[in-house]
Amino acid sequence: MSKVVKFGGSSLASAEQFKKVGQIISADKERRFVVPSAPGKRFSKDKKVTDMLYSCYRTAVGKNGEEKMQEEFEAIKARYTEIIEGLNLKLSLEDEFKTIKEKFLQKAGEDYAASRGEYLNGIVMANYLGFEFIDSAEFIKFKENGEFDAETTNNLLKPKLQQVVYAVIPGFYGSLPDGTVKTFSRGGSDITGSIVARACKADVYENWTDVSGFLIADPRIIENPEVIETITYKELRELSYMGAGVLHEDAIFPVRSEGIPINIRNTNSPKDPGTWIVESTCQKPKYTITGIAGRKGFCSINIEKDMMNAEIGFGRKVLQAFEDNDISFEHMPSGIDTMTIFVHQDEFMHKEQQVVSAIHRLADPDTIEIESDLSLIAVVGRGMKSTRGTAGRIFSALAHANVNVKMIDQGSSELNIIIGVDDADFNTAIKAIYNIFVVARL
Ligand code: ASP
Repeated sequence: MSKVVKFGGSSLASAEQFKKVGQIISADKERRFVVPSAPGKRFSKDKKVTDMLYSCYRTAVGKNGEEKMQEEFEAIKARYTEIIEGLNLKLSLEDEFKTIKEKFLQKAGEDYAASRGEYLNGIVMANYLGFEFIDSAEFIKFKENGEFDAETTNNLLKPKLQQVVYAVIPGFYGSLPDGTVKTFSRGGSDITGSIVARACKADVYENWTDVSGFLIADPRIIENPEVIETITYKELRELSYMGAGVLHEDAIFPVRSEGIPINIRNTNSPKDPGTWIVESTCQKPKYTITGIAGRKGFCSINIEKDMMNAEIGFGRKVLQAFEDNDISFEHMPSGIDTMTIFVHQDEFMHKEQQVVSAIHRLADPDTIEIESDLSLIAVVGRGMKSTRGTAGRIFSALAHANVNVKMIDQGSSELNIIIGVDDADFNTAIKAIYNIFVVARL
């Protein structure tokens, strides 16, 4: 039995936080493989070590770099010294910092610079726990074109993990075929955790952060929203796509294919069960809906043409106009003689007239109307399939809250209902939906 435990930056921001992490790991012998992030913020105005590294590197490669980088470099060192001293470790990172400084001045690259946050934190963590340190650059591999190389990585990492009992594998980076360090995108330690879980065929991938799991709705809109107990990968995909973020999206793929569940946990409240992310479950969701998420800033392009529905190829021609202008569309509800395309306002704005003229040229519609400042809200839940009247309840709640619904789109999976409203109604709409399903427990 083995568990992979990944700790985010806020869980490792100080010696105090490291101690909590130490307790969590020693409380369960199966927590064998530890994936740390770089130290994050200790307080809200603090800086993440990763950001400090990016900035210091930019200074180092500029004019008079060696002299100018000094202050920033010392500030980074101080973050680690504070942790090492706070934990009473007999560990010196002097040699490591010497090498890092040299490499910065030799212009080793931004990725190399940023990766040192996790690398150094991994060394500290391994020393603190008495675990083996495994440098991710040797086992996590990217292809020459920069894409993650899942199979090579798994073939390297699997036998390595079979040889060790307890190890620390820093998150966020790996290397290209020539050995150059390469990072994932920001927040990428989540991906490393998932890759390690796949390689050791873990029973569970625990992802420790500073919240007690996924929340049913955005806490900036709903005060103290409830935590989702269990969510399927499909539901999670719908919600993250619509803007709910705790976990890096790419962290799902490696574990999903192996059927390994992810458990989101809170380092500051380790007794909380957190959220389970699973492939499928017979567990009935507590409420009809699993979660609500949404995004502002959409535009709709309404196209009308008499007898549109009889004209073969009309939709294709319209979509061609978007494709030719390199614009992806989000939703496409249609009526008998109308179709509407939802696009991101910021993407569409500059190309608006080109797209409109292309639609005219290609599809010859009667009218085209554009509406801006719209939001899309996704109401997601595997429980919707077996419950009647979900859409009805959503719409009556919105009507009572005086929200005008501009668009409705129910996915064929019956997993989600997407609603378009004015940006100005965004918060009111989310509150109304949350209240009807969660507060009123329907
Ligand atoms: N330290 C990296 C970042 O700040 C990666 C991570 O924390 O997952 O993005």
